[in-house]
Amino acid sequence: MNNIYFEICAIPVYIIIMLTTFIRKTTKGLANELFVALSGVSLIATLTDITSEMVCRGGMLDETRYVVANVSLYLYFLLRNGTVVLYLFFLFAITRTSYLIHKMRLKVLIMAPYLVLALSVLSNPLHHKIFYVTNEDGYHRGDWILILYVISLLYVLVGTVYIASCKRFLEMGKWLALLSMYLLIFVSVIVQFFFSDMLVEMYATSIAFLMVILLVLRPEEITDSSVGLPSWKAYQTELKKIIVMKQPAQITVIRFINANEIRTYLGEERYRIYVVRIADEIDQLCRKERLSYEIFFEHPGSLYLIFDNLDFDLKPHLAGLISSVKDKTKEIENTGAKLVPRVCTIRVPEDLDNLDDILHFGHEFFGLVPFEQTYSQASDIVVSKNFKIESDMDNILSRAIMKRGFEMYYQPIYSIRDERFVSAEALIRLNDTKYGFVSPGLFIPAAESRGLILPIGDFVLEDVYQFIAENDIEVLGLKYIEVNLSVVQCLQKDLPKKVKALEEKYGVAPDKVNLEITETTYDTVGGVLDGNLKRLSNMGYIFSLDDYGTGYSNMQRVSKLPLKMIKIDKSLVDGMNTQDGMSIMRNTIHMMKDIRKELIVEGVETKETFDQLKAMGCDYIQGYYFSKPLPADQFLAFVKRENLGIG
Ligand code: C2E
Ligand code: MG
Ligand code: MG
Repeated sequence: MNNIYFEICAIPVYIIIMLTTFIRKTTKGLANELFVALSGVSLIATLTDITSEMVCRGGMLDETRYVVANVSLYLYFLLRNGTVVLYLFFLFAITRTSYLIHKMRLKVLIMAPYLVLALSVLSNPLHHKIFYVTNEDGYHRGDWILILYVISLLYVLVGTVYIASCKRFLEMGKWLALLSMYLLIFVSVIVQFFFSDMLVEMYATSIAFLMVILLVLRPEEITDSSVGLPSWKAYQTELKKIIVMKQPAQITVIRFINANEIRTYLGEERYRIYVVRIADEIDQLCRKERLSYEIFFEHPGSLYLIFDNLDFDLKPHLAGLISSVKDKTKEIENTGAKLVPRVCTIRVPEDLDNLDDILHFGHEFFGLVPFEQTYSQASDIVVSKNFKIESDMDNILSRAIMKRGFEMYYQPIYSIRDERFVSAEALIRLNDTKYGFVSPGLFIPAAESRGLILPIGDFVLEDVYQFIAENDIEVLGLKYIEVNLSVVQCLQKDLPKKVKALEEKYGVAPDKVNLEITETTYDTVGGVLDGNLKRLSNMGYIFSLDDYGTGYSNMQRVSKLPLKMIKIDKSLVDGMNTQDGMSIMRNTIHMMKDIRKELIVEGVETKETFDQLKAMGCDYIQGYYFSKPLPADQFLAFVKRENLGIG
């Protein structure tokens, strides 16, 4: 009599697995669906095995027991061997290679051995070569049972080789868990070989499934807890599989450019509802279009969609999608909170074929297209000069630092009261041997994130001090030169010491230099900056606040900082073409005057704007209306001509 206790123990294990699957909602997506099917089929196979075992016990079989034994044995052979095939499909799905077997021919090829097996089982009543049941002593193996073993072994071998080949991109735990199915089947076959009455195979399989659910299908590991959608980490994992397996895919990135503000405005819970509703609308669209897709969320507001269907074009559906989101989120958007999307489609591998590039692209693409453009395609962006520069920034920066590829330009600043140019802003320029002019808007943030801003900042200070020393700027009517300080420079404890050394080296007085800092600088490094600001201002330096009007401008804080001047950003100037924009500018100037700050407005391009700002009481004007930033010699010639009437 066979020992079926292990088989019985497998039943609660399968039930726990299935319950867990439903409770954790890991039922969507091909891999999850296959896993649910696998657990169900295995549970039924176990039940049929136990049934046939129990029925065949206890002597002569009556008619009913004979039929039950036969039915459960047929079911057992079909289902048990079916799980091995299903598991292979599950492996393809979990490692994202199902696309390789999309073609019907390949599916049939994989299924063929199983079809042979099924045919031999189903034709058993004719030949009884697989098994037969007698009324006297129940179940007997037939000679052809070997076919079943050989076919199953074939699937096991293919699966084992396949998992072995996936080691390079699977985490160790996940890899072992997926392999455990075959290892445990192997162990159980050996146990059954030595102890032929011990039925342990189905139990071993259930334990392997448990390993998979514990170590592989882990929603808590791949879910973004803030919105309950698959996370950025899961996106990275899936992308990695796509790249390693060379799977063609289409990725759509939806980036909400004002996510942080909307999240703060709505609060965590309402923001979550907003994002989930948007994800639901995307889901509806994909269902309608019969698309297989996966969605991921990155904090604070990016959605990534991976489509297996390469022909799907989101563009014609975008307007409809936006309006249905608007419909479904009326009560949120009516409060004035509206997430503003920027959408980009990336084809892998045509547009980008490298994991880091795709991840980086998802974070940067909206800065590489015109601000108003909602939809873009990576194929258009990757050929743009700015993108090529962004991607090659490491080389560009190291070339520039090694070969001193930087040069300082100067943009004159006009005083409305004095009616002449009284200062200038020093602006760095990078002329690369390969790409030509590279905008500081691109390379300054890149240098900051790569820890290369200090040598650049040192070059800027040195060059400006030298410029002031070599040219008697006072004679030209210039009071000082403005220098931009980056966040990292402000964090340097020895910044005042460095500045002191330059003063002495070039014999330049502190009142000839004005240091520009930004509010973001202040937000990030408040404490250290306070110390540096105090020491430098004790040494006689004056400070300007750059880019006022971008970010979170806070008047109270501005009034407390040792700032003499405020530079109003170009974006506020651009806004002056509307009534509201005019009011904002007028009131900003008014407020700044009230707290006794001097005002420079940047980005003035026309006479009309100049006149309007003059009427509003602005002190200084900087912009293309007067001059673009110029190389040192051209700048000197400009000021001589404009201020002194020479040349
Ligand atoms: P910023 O300090 O706000 O500099 C003003 C920017 O506005 C300059 O861009 C200038 O060329 C541009 N601009 C001035 N008037 C007009 C105008 O009428 N129309 C338009 N369209 N633009 C105008 P630039 O030189 O490209 O510099 C961009 C940013 O890069 C600067 O913004 C600053 O944040 C940074 N940067 C530039 N040079 C340096 C530097 O030496 N050190 C540091 N740390 N940052 C720098
Ligand atoms: Mg500046
Ligand atoms: Mg500025």
